[in-house]
Amino acid sequence: MTIHTILTKLHKYMNTTSPDPSRLAIHTFTLKPWNLQECIAHFQRKDVPAMSVWRNLIDPEEGGIGLKEAAPMIRESGLKVPALVRGGFFPAESDSARQEAIDRNKVYLDEAREIGADMVVLVVGALPGQPLSESRRQVQDGIAALSDHAAQSGVKLAIEPLHPMYAGDKSCVNRMAEAREICEAVQSPWVGIAADVYHIWWDPDVEQELRLSAEQNTLFGFHICDWRLNTRHLLTDRGLMGDGCIDVRHFRQLVESLGFDGYHEVEVFSEEYWGWDQEKYLDLILERYRDNS
Ligand code: ZN
Repeated sequence: MTIHTILTKLHKYMNTTSPDPSRLAIHTFTLKPWNLQECIAHFQRKDVPAMSVWRNLIDPEEGGIGLKEAAPMIRESGLKVPALVRGGFFPAESDSARQEAIDRNKVYLDEAREIGADMVVLVVGALPGQPLSESRRQVQDGIAALSDHAAQSGVKLAIEPLHPMYAGDKSCVNRMAEAREICEAVQSPWVGIAADVYHIWWDPDVEQELRLSAEQNTLFGFHICDWRLNTRHLLTDRGLMGDGCIDVRHFRQLVESLGFDGYHEVEVFSEEYWGWDQEKYLDLILERYRDNS
């Protein structure tokens, strides 16, 4: 029995402020140097109960092994899969390009069903030069057009608000409120929100919005990491919980107090940590999850 398993069992009997280890999930991109097989083997060895799978490990165009090989490997691993990451990128200049985005996301929903993922995380996109309000309208239309396919697939769509530093080209949805407005407009039980502390911790309305999301049953995902002081790169310098200024434990306890019982998904893009021995890094992730989440 590994330490992680023992802690999982102990957690049930102790009045502890640490997170329940059975709620831990790790995004495969967090350990970018590892391929799918390596992620599965190391997660199994350390009793990590769940992983969110990034498409680069599946899609041959991105260097992945293909769905045919990946799907049985993932399903037979025993690991739960909260999310396939990522779909989205709806805004585009022409009707045909927007339709292509919708069709692409239908394929992602099918892939998610094949690997047993609960949701597809949506980074919604933005079109440089186009008003954000227009991009948000296109995002809403795109998600509405997908909601039936999501229901048929039995896979949820989780809109992930991204920090405003990404508003130029990655996401016109920058706060929980904008994600909520899309959910309210689309009105599908298959459309909700992935709340990532990295993107939303600064928002003065974040607690109120998390509360609303829980009330509306749209709080689908919860991602954890940390905001480094000073951030050296806008995409690939996230911190591990405890490296920065986000009170991750506060947010974890808040969403749990609101009834969230999904996974705490560790999602860190870090050139620094990718340069480490990944086994040592995985040990540090488990330690920080226990002590700083
Ligand atoms: Zn995230």
